[in-house]
Amino acid sequence: MDMDFYCSQVLSGRTSVAVVMETANVLAFHQTRPSFQTHIVVIPRRHVLSLIDPSWSDDEALDLIRALRAIAAQVVDRTGACRVVTNLGKYQDSKHLHFHLVSGERLESSLRWP
Ligand SMILES: [Zn+2]
Repeated sequence: MDMDFYCSQVLSGRTSVAVVMETANVLAFHQTRPSFQTHIVVIPRRHVLSLIDPSWSDDEALDLIRALRAIAAQVVDRTGACRVVTNLGKYQDSKHLHFHLVSGERLESSLRWP
């Protein structure tokens, strides 16, 4: 049983999040502990280990990319810039695929990035 933060807290509803976009397969929400002025996290609803998890199908990937594109376009419209990041291997803290969409100043309260 996997107990990563996204499955155990966010997708279960135990931790409430400010939803940015919701589809059948994808959830996007404002990071609960943001590192930047704008910091949105986009995850698949199904547990997928990472971007290179072979169980993640092309159709599922396309769904998530559609959400990323739409949200990134909104962020660029609003702030003029956006960075999209996902981490792999030793860089990846939570072992559930997640993309960070960040924009604006880094917050002093953030300990580290990514
Ligand atoms: Zn998970």
